[in-house]
Amino acid sequence: MSIALHPGSFDPPTLGHLDLVLRGRKLFDRIHVVVGVNSRKSPLFSAEERVELFVASLVAAGIHDVEVHAWGGLTVEIARRLGATVLLRGLRQAGDFEAEQSIALMNRRLAPGIETVYLPSREEHLGLTSTLVRDIAGMGGDVSAFVPSPVAQALRDRFQGKA
Ligand code: ADP
Repeated sequence: MSIALHPGSFDPPTLGHLDLVLRGRKLFDRIHVVVGVNSRKSPLFSAEERVELFVASLVAAGIHDVEVHAWGGLTVEIARRLGATVLLRGLRQAGDFEAEQSIALMNRRLAPGIETVYLPSREEHLGLTSTLVRDIAGMGGDVSAFVPSPVAQALRDRFQGKA
């Protein structure tokens, strides 16, 4: 059975992340999403909130067979614990590749049996980042074209009265 892990910060999850999971489900028997606990020092959403948002986004998309975990340790360690042999990551622009390549090489040194697989972003998600979504929502902009509806709602709630 092929098990893949999709690790990331997901602060917040976007349609780009959801699309990677949807496409990954066609390639692997099982996908686990892993929300990094320490990946940003002061995230907009706590790790628990990001897990809840990803779960709600999957449910809204009719997906019930993807587990979402919060994890503060090494990605390869939770991969081993879950029996995953693939780390699934996305590539948008060329800049992503350099960063992703460093992470992938380091992960291979740490765990030679675990491979990183990149999926190219869909065209419509090329410029889509969690950072931009946070910035736009923080200034009162409409992000409903970029994030699943539970995330758009959570951003409205978070920034209500603050924009
Ligand atoms: P990290 O901080 O670990 O990069 P992110 O939440 O920013 O976490 O991204 C997690 C993964 O999803 C990364 O592999 C990233 O390249 C990918 N990703 C993010 N946004 C998109 C997108 N719009 N299209 C495709 N992949 C994306």
